[in-house]
Amino acid sequence: MRSAVSPLVLLQPRSLRDALRMLRDEGPLTPLAGCTDLYVALNLGALADRRFLNIWGLDALRGIERRGDVLRIGALTTYSGLIRSVEVRRRLPMLAAASREIGAVQVQNRGTIGGNIANGSPAGDTLPVLAAADALVELRGVDWTRKIPFADFYSGYRASVRRPDELITAVEVPRVEGAQWFRKVGTRAAQSISKVVMAAVRAEQPRIALGSVAPTVVRARRAEDALASGAPIDEAQRLLQEDISPIDDIRSTAAYRREVAARLLAQFWRDTR
Ligand SMILES: Cc1cc2nc3c(=O)[nH]c(=O)nc-3n(C[C@H](O)[C@H](O)[C@H](O)COP(=O)(O)OP(=O)(O)OC[C@H]3O[C@@H](n4cnc5c(N)ncnc54)[C@H](O)[C@@H]3O)c2cc1C
Repeated sequence: MRSAVSPLVLLQPRSLRDALRMLRDEGPLTPLAGCTDLYVALNLGALADRRFLNIWGLDALRGIERRGDVLRIGALTTYSGLIRSVEVRRRLPMLAAASREIGAVQVQNRGTIGGNIANGSPAGDTLPVLAAADALVELRGVDWTRKIPFADFYSGYRASVRRPDELITAVEVPRVEGAQWFRKVGTRAAQSISKVVMAAVRAEQPRIALGSVAPTVVRARRAEDALASGAPIDEAQRLLQEDISPIDDIRSTAAYRREVAARLLAQFWRDTR
């Protein structure tokens, strides 16, 4: 790997407090978790960053627990951890479903939910789930904690409101009422990046989120409102086209993504009838 012979600096904090201090006092530093995105970028020579903060050893950022009605998932929780979790399978089955379709077992063992959120790819498979679940992203700095509604977390393509001296420490998901639904459309079942990915909740006010159809994950608010008011599915499908702004890229075309998104909406509505 090109990275192996590059002059990289790797800081090894012993605690979360240490890590946050290093970010503040010795930054800029790139947090390094499971490395499944970072290694690829380093290997391709596509990453300018040379100074890293290894957070993989920080157990304070691991684990899944229920706090009242809220499911709290530590940022370093891996996809395998999410798949194994009884709480996640019971309360947030769409997140377990998304995790099962990420990469293959190797990536599921190493890739983390915090990394997926921070990486901010519009194709990140957990992101529509977190958007449809109205999750909160917890950010911590040396002496502050703030919780950002998922809908406000991204400020543009791969850009977020996280400051360089903050870590994502957890994601909190309130109880989700209604039938949950997840579907990823890619080239094949494993090791494929989404062409379109959708997570949705059927409730009085449906919640529908899509990935790979805009610069960031999007909530399909127009389609949601149409379905909530009892509009026919073809009207919701028409409005969905205004919610999304897909592009042509190496994985697909805008036209295909529009067609698939509309079909997924109809499938969600049929499946959860
Ligand atoms: C073969 C392969 C297949 C893949 N398949 C999929 C797939 O199907 N679906 C999908 O969504 N993704 C996929 N990915 C991408 C990747 O596995 C996920 O995005 C994963 O969740 C990244 O987590 P990580 O811990 O490895 O992040 P890292 O690579 O360690 O970091 C990614 C980014 O997040 C930042 N970061 C990480 N943790 C934090 C934190 N706690 N606070 C602040 N910043 C942080 C890092 O600085 C970096 O910018 C795949 C990757 C590979 C190599």
